[in-house]
Amino acid sequence: MSAEAAAATPSKPLSAPQKALRKLGLVRDIDLALHLPLRYEDETRITTLRDARDGQVVQLEGTVTHQEISYRPRRQLLVTLDDGTDTCTLRFFTFYPSHQKALAVGARVRVRGEIRGGFLGRSLMHPAFQAAGGDLPDALTPVYPTSAQLPQPYLRKAVASGLRRADLGETLPTGVLQSLQTTLRGLRAPLMSLREALHYLHHPGPDVSLDALEDHSHPAWQRLKAEELLAQQLSQLAAKRERDALRAPVLPLRSGGLHEQLLGALPFGLTAAQRRVGEEIARDLSRPVPMHRLLQGDVGSGKTVVAALAAAIAMDEGWQCALMAPTEILAEQHFAKLVGWLEPLLAPLGKRVAWLTGSQKKKQRTEMLALIASGEAALVVGTHAVIQEQVQFRNLALAIIDEQHRFGVAQRLALRSKMGDGASDVAGEPHLLMMTATPIPRTLAMSYYADLDVSTIDELPPGRTPIVTKVVADSRRHEVIERIRAQVAEGRQVYWVCPLIEESEALDLSNATATHAELSEALGGVMVGLLHSRMPVAEKKAVMALFSEGVMGVLVSTTVIEVGVDVPNASLMVIEHAERFGLSQLHQLRGRVGRGAAASACVLLYTPPEGGRLGETARERLKAMAETTDGFEIARRDLEIRGPGEFLGARQSGAPLLRFADLATDTHLLEWARQAAAEMLTHYPEAAERHVARWLGTKAEYLKA
Ligand code: ADP
Ligand code: MG
Repeated sequence: MSAEAAAATPSKPLSAPQKALRKLGLVRDIDLALHLPLRYEDETRITTLRDARDGQVVQLEGTVTHQEISYRPRRQLLVTLDDGTDTCTLRFFTFYPSHQKALAVGARVRVRGEIRGGFLGRSLMHPAFQAAGGDLPDALTPVYPTSAQLPQPYLRKAVASGLRRADLGETLPTGVLQSLQTTLRGLRAPLMSLREALHYLHHPGPDVSLDALEDHSHPAWQRLKAEELLAQQLSQLAAKRERDALRAPVLPLRSGGLHEQLLGALPFGLTAAQRRVGEEIARDLSRPVPMHRLLQGDVGSGKTVVAALAAAIAMDEGWQCALMAPTEILAEQHFAKLVGWLEPLLAPLGKRVAWLTGSQKKKQRTEMLALIASGEAALVVGTHAVIQEQVQFRNLALAIIDEQHRFGVAQRLALRSKMGDGASDVAGEPHLLMMTATPIPRTLAMSYYADLDVSTIDELPPGRTPIVTKVVADSRRHEVIERIRAQVAEGRQVYWVCPLIEESEALDLSNATATHAELSEALGGVMVGLLHSRMPVAEKKAVMALFSEGVMGVLVSTTVIEVGVDVPNASLMVIEHAERFGLSQLHQLRGRVGRGAAASACVLLYTPPEGGRLGETARERLKAMAETTDGFEIARRDLEIRGPGEFLGARQSGAPLLRFADLATDTHLLEWARQAAAEMLTHYPEAAERHVARWLGTKAEYLKA
């Protein structure tokens, strides 16, 4: 019975392997057909022990000459096999009477496993075995990705029957096939049909070599990668078009309005990049469809003012805006900055900036909620509190999310839904502007974020000095402390960040507390503050205020200062246990300095494990930090080190990752898929739907947030 048929018969409970199949997402015949081998095993030959190399996976045939159960070092079954050229030991730590019977002395058996050398002679650990003789397969045997509950032979059979039954009819229209053929010609791969490609990879012929199968530039792989990328592009483009059918308030840029006034009131002129992205946003806002734009710009590139200018356009028309930030400190900073910029302009209009956080006193909160509901609050700044149910806007037109990667899909959707939540005066969708300081590498932007419009600030405000980064062993900590003393003596300020130790918040804290005590003692006369996530909010604010005002020379903190904090006089950032931080986090932290005119530095203190060296990825991360301050380069290397799965984090919780295509190498196919998706969706919508259903099936929920 097919997996599909099994699923449709509720009366019969699923067997363990059937359940395991579902867990792997292998429900339909086509899912099984698209479940491709991880690698292949060569069972076409019998090797002799004389020719077998240690570490090689071999298939042997011989006679059992000895069998015993040994109890040292633990209970195990030992079987000696003689193949006429040499002998070896088969070792089983788990075994059943059936093992003993099949591997009885005198039995002729065929075994397969990895051969290992050793002091007591060569051995195979837990080899697969069967009676000797019997046909050898004439082609390589596929090995599929699987789970513990799903034995390889069962899965192999399920895949084979799925492949037999699945509808593998062509989904690509002729024109699209032709453009694929042209693209593949550039990659020196002839076009294969999906059916041919799948048969080739699942059941390689006798003359197909391991190299050809494992080489992902083979035409069969190219076809699969192209199909997969096309499905991804189609689903995202469809989401985008769906959104384009929605309505949003038209917010034109009015001359003489708030936007112009704010520009005039700023203490600086915009950079060319800020002007450019500002125009891109203004163009979106002037259209009757909801904006869905990501504003990316390195730390310190000046995204906040761009957001404020966008808000000014909306507020000018009498609409409301919301700005949501991931932490209270960051929200507070935004609030202070935006009040400073906007309240003088809003006051004559009888409007205000409201403030919402979780820690707020009930009375103040009630007051704020009233301002928001009446529309007197033209702008609402806050944390997650902004998306809570009690918050009802009168006419929300623009929602801005800072550090968007820190929010999940659900939270973005909640903010968007604030417009149509009944209490609102208007139906439709608000415009959405998301901001991030973790720039998305181009290939990711083109694939996973294809449904987003992206604006990029690729220039820092003038007068910044580059940050010099040093990687220093913790054994030289005293030198770093001397450097801090010198900086503070010059009137500069210093951050010292301690790591987040995930397993234990208590340890995390003790680390920061100990460092705080150490620095307070070593730097007599300098005010050293401490900031961590478990402090009461009021205390956090007080500490942050002392540091912002320049009274406090050194701020020791856990990663609570990670995002967005802006104190231009700070010129030295010390990161303790830098080896424990992720690359983008290190980059964000480093971005806290170098915001003023003073020369700035970042010291990455690392502690190698007892008597050892740092791990490979930790070393790569620190090296990347020392070599570049360019956020895009950092993001690219981060992607290289971590792979897209982790890089994407929360955004992709619902969306399937690419299984076959590799964004680092398959850019040509990605370009093709982008164009092909647009063409198919416009001219062949049915084929497009069929293609997406085939590849994404139940996972084809469009990315709406
Ligand atoms: P980020 O993009 O990291 O959010 P911010 O918006 O916090 O950066 O800006 C960093 C600092 O640069 C702030 O103090 C901000 O006022 C200042 N700034 C922004 N744009 C300019 C500009 N064009 N010229 C000078 N300073 C600017
Ligand atoms: Mg910011």
